[in-house]
Amino acid sequence: MAEVTRTRRVLGTSPPLDGSGPAAVAVYAIEGGLWQVVAIAYGRSRAETTVKDIRGLATKLPAVFGEATSGEPVGEPASFFFHDSLRRLSADLERFPLGLIAVGDAVASFNPLHGLGMASAVKQASILADLLAGGVDPAGPAREFMRLNEAAVAAMWKEGAGR
Ligand SMILES: Cc1cc2nc3c(=O)[nH]c(=O)nc-3n(C[C@H](O)[C@H](O)[C@H](O)COP(=O)(O)OP(=O)(O)OC[C@H]3O[C@@H](n4cnc5c(N)ncnc54)[C@H](O)[C@@H]3O)c2cc1C
Repeated sequence: MAEVTRTRRVLGTSPPLDGSGPAAVAVYAIEGGLWQVVAIAYGRSRAETTVKDIRGLATKLPAVFGEATSGEPVGEPASFFFHDSLRRLSADLERFPLGLIAVGDAVASFNPLHGLGMASAVKQASILADLLAGGVDPAGPAREFMRLNEAAVAAMWKEGAGR
């Protein structure tokens, strides 16, 4: 697997998030000498996905978008609808089944525009791995995991969904 460095920066003021235009357009060089092109719009409006739409959009964007959209399409576009960011708090529940935990998207699913879902899932998995390596009984109560996990997820939630 190739090493990857991702850098995030937040700037300025965005237009109204009403689905009247694309909220994100991204191109990714992926394995197999292909480009993955992703367009996201708020609301129920489906972002531009015909080849003509995407190539038209690319003419208004930096040169890399033109390069990425110049090839022949592979397969059909696939759309995914995301309803809303959702976080479930369970650390303070009075009763919770022994030997059971919630992790990943079951704890928090983020607005995909923030790209935090995988980071959150991996962070949660690493908290669990550390506890298990430290000797926590996997068949016992999971309160410690849930408390640590909720604190870690809360920090990401503030960054990516809680505004
Ligand atoms: C279209 C799309 C694009 C995304 N893009 C990004 C991105 O660019 N960056 C990012 O960070 N995150 C992204 N995410 C979010 C990211 O994929 C999730 O946050 C992450 O995969 C959550 O991991 P998870 O293990 O909780 O759930 P999942 O990865 O969804 O894994 C759950 C697994 O459980 C299986 N399963 C479900 N029900 C059952 C059952 N009853 N029995 C057995 N198995 C079952 C499912 O088949 C699945 O394999 C994207 C999500 C989607 C849908």
